[in-house]
Amino acid sequence: MIKINENFLELQESYLFATIAKKVAEFTKENPDKKVIKLGIGDVTRPIPQAVLKAMHEATDEFQKTESFRGYGPEQGYDFLREKIRDNDYKSRGIQIDTDEIFVSDGAKCDCGNIVDVFSENNKVAITDPVYPVYLDTNVMTGRSGKYNKEQGKYENIVYIPATAKNNFVPELPKEKVDMIYLCYPNNPTGTTLTKEQLKIWVDYAKENKSIILFDAAYEAFITDENVPHSIYEIEGAKEVAIEFRSFSKTAGFTGIRCAFAVIPKELKGYTESGEKIELNKLWNRRQCTKFNGVSYVTQRAAEAIYSEEGKKQVKENINYYKENAKIIKKGLEEAGYTVYGGVNSPYVWLKLPDGTKSWDFFDKLLKEANVVGTPGVGFGPSGEGYFRLTGFGTKENTIEAIERIKKMK
Ligand code: PLP
Repeated sequence: MIKINENFLELQESYLFATIAKKVAEFTKENPDKKVIKLGIGDVTRPIPQAVLKAMHEATDEFQKTESFRGYGPEQGYDFLREKIRDNDYKSRGIQIDTDEIFVSDGAKCDCGNIVDVFSENNKVAITDPVYPVYLDTNVMTGRSGKYNKEQGKYENIVYIPATAKNNFVPELPKEKVDMIYLCYPNNPTGTTLTKEQLKIWVDYAKENKSIILFDAAYEAFITDENVPHSIYEIEGAKEVAIEFRSFSKTAGFTGIRCAFAVIPKELKGYTESGEKIELNKLWNRRQCTKFNGVSYVTQRAAEAIYSEEGKKQVKENINYYKENAKIIKKGLEEAGYTVYGGVNSPYVWLKLPDGTKSWDFFDKLLKEANVVGTPGVGFGPSGEGYFRLTGFGTKENTIEAIERIKKMK
């Protein structure tokens, strides 16, 4: 008899995007003359930078000839890309990362999800709340969550750390000892950031408690404020306690092309039950060599092109476009009297709803009265109730129009 991994039965159905799609479809059917503007999406919309496309075409052509044909590549990624990452993302900020500490992959989602393979089922997991759902669900699948408490909207063995307007979106250290800590900055969904000093508190906690920080920096490219760290390794001692996840998805429009990387410094150790120190870099390398066959050559050449002078310029233009949209949303909503967070070092704007308005009620009102679609905050965790996410990933024209309509709402 084939037995299943029963942890999967503990997963809660994510109704968020399915429900949004259903509600929008119903509204459109009933109001075919209304132009609905979608500012709920977390996906990029701008064309891929020309420098990237050129590199992809050239790489594809190499497959035409026997001399330049490529088969399986290194599971960890080609050195030409790992060296660019090392120099541009780390060395340029005074951070020493070796190429063999960089693992190129097909997405930060996969990396954040797969990393749980190398950790014991007995680890205590902490997530900030609201949160990118992948951290939670992958720990549910691997048996670290315990049972789901419907009333609280929480799993019994997961430590939820609220990040709300109450604490100015700076999560407080957990009262109980935790082993695995997920931090995502700039944050999805709140668009907020931590300063170097605030992040250092977490690094110090992890050092003291022999915990690990799983630091998701997928939105790093959106940072402009000086004191916001681009990498957790800007914080002293972080190499001993943190894995960093980066992605080309939001940086360079790679959500469809697929390329990302994880950094696992050799100083970073985990422990056996008997307390023996083990290099996590080695475990991850073994895991990847067994379960992953690398990112396609064409894709890695595309990612490499982001680091060329032309590529950097074109990527920046796209990022600035989204950031400008986020600014328009933030400014417009503030003028309309809303309290708004994020939207500065991030494409995400996090709206605090007035007078105890529920996230889904605001969704319905916004759709009906302004014909604008956003994402209810409660879909990202219990502490997201009463909040709403809008994104700068639409077109500028639609963003301006959407905000004008919201301003006219009663
Ligand atoms: N991490 C965060 C916080 C995200 O919001 C997303 C995508 O929305 C990802 C990771 C996924 O990145 P990738 O496209 O590289 O899998």
